Amino acid sequence: MNIVCIGSGYVGSVTGAAFAVLGHHTTVLDIDQTKVDLMNAGRSPIYEPGLDHLIENYIGKTLFATTDYSTISQADVVFIGVGTPSKADGTADLRYIRLAAQGIGQHLNPDKFTVIINKSTVPVGTADLVASIIEESSGLAADTHFAMASNPEFLREGYALEDVFFPDRIVIGTENPRSKQVLKELYFNLLNRVQYEEKSRDFQFAFNPKAPLPTYYETDIKSAEMIKYASNAFLAVKISYINEIARLCETLGANVTDVAAGMGMDSRIGSKFLQVSSGWSGSCFPKDTAELLATSQKYSCELTVVQAAVESNQQMHDYVVDKIKRKLKTLNGKHIGILGLTFKPNTDDARKTQASVIIKELIDAGARIKAHDPHGMEMFQQLNAALDVQYMPNALDVTNNVDAVVLLTHWDEYLLIDWSQVKTNMRSPYVLDTRNVLKPAYMQELGFDYEGLGINSFR
Ligand code: NAD
Repeated sequence: MNIVCIGSGYVGSVTGAAFAVLGHHTTVLDIDQTKVDLMNAGRSPIYEPGLDHLIENYIGKTLFATTDYSTISQADVVFIGVGTPSKADGTADLRYIRLAAQGIGQHLNPDKFTVIINKSTVPVGTADLVASIIEESSGLAADTHFAMASNPEFLREGYALEDVFFPDRIVIGTENPRSKQVLKELYFNLLNRVQYEEKSRDFQFAFNPKAPLPTYYETDIKSAEMIKYASNAFLAVKISYINEIARLCETLGANVTDVAAGMGMDSRIGSKFLQVSSGWSGSCFPKDTAELLATSQKYSCELTVVQAAVESNQQMHDYVVDKIKRKLKTLNGKHIGILGLTFKPNTDDARKTQASVIIKELIDAGARIKAHDPHGMEMFQQLNAALDVQYMPNALDVTNNVDAVVLLTHWDEYLLIDWSQVKTNMRSPYVLDTRNVLKPAYMQELGFDYEGLGINSFR
């Protein structure tokens, strides 16, 4: 098939590369010339493990990148994967979706039936909006010349290729029989793992022929749009819940790591998303919960559980800051080293991360901050220009003469640094590990005043 993916960000570039690997003629279309140039030079426009390798191998063969919207006229299928950030009132800003829809409409081929698919996370009803913009700008009729579908994306940054080639489920929302057929054909190779064994070298991760096949789940468009928001909000609730349990564990003398492990053994609960943290953050959960809450309020159908999860999450950020304050007494003149600025490891995505909230609170309380992140430092610095942070080129530099080291993101690199050197570097040996990933007994042996979250005893 001829596929166009609009947007070359975390979703568009990965989706485009994956369909190119699966044998489709795929063009990634972005208005950002720099990203398009990077792809055409065989490089990934984002940091995502394995993506550089795929783009390098497929660019110019089945994968193409352009800024030229006229490529739409050749497409059987167009994915919209542009950003949908939050507006000040919490609702999703659909300006990029509207622009993409106009661009599609201006170049839609009247002699071809084209399926237009929203892969971006968009509020319920957005497919209707996109269809009406395309109809207006093309003069062509929905369901005759083109049809809308929703195919929300569930990839995790840092594991995006694995998630795209081996998803749990593919959710398809469309009422149009022709687009249903086109989408089934489009996903055939992925659903049946056609030539996966040969291509596993390109995936750069082990191919497990016994891994369960994805569920192909068809529903109506609005339900598909809602599945994405409801899923993300559910995961946010789950994290807020375990973080509250962690706070109670700490007060009562229980160990949240053991509690989460014991809970996760129940298949009704599952072990994922039960890892303690300084709170959820990133480019998706904050904006998606905000949009869901704004919509629920607009229609007087309030989601009090999601509202509570959002409030609880802010409390978790505050809890981390309070813990540091309790330990260091006053933060005035104290130097704190922050390890990790992205919302999770293996991504350079530093949008709306917990680090920005926590660092701001620490600075407001008088602390001086040094920080490091293996891949997210540049984006974090750009997005948080108002924060007075000293960015360090390597992790050990962050620990020089500081009163505390706070590990916010559990990059492998931080587990492997020379912690005895860190101990020598620090002015006072307090380490707060907000992901409970360091070995408490080892840290104690090295002479650190080590704390995790929701744990009391050293094991
Ligand atoms: P992103 O900001 O990384 O990428 C968006 C890209 O779209 C940018 O490169 C931008 O230049 C481009 N763009 C904007 N307007 C355009 C236009 N009119 N024409 C062509 N290109 C245009 O965003 P992202 O993280 O990839 O997210 C995209 C969507 O997917 C969002 O709705 C997001 O919520 C959703 N999503 C993201 C993830 C994730 O992990 N990042 C996962 C699932 C779903």
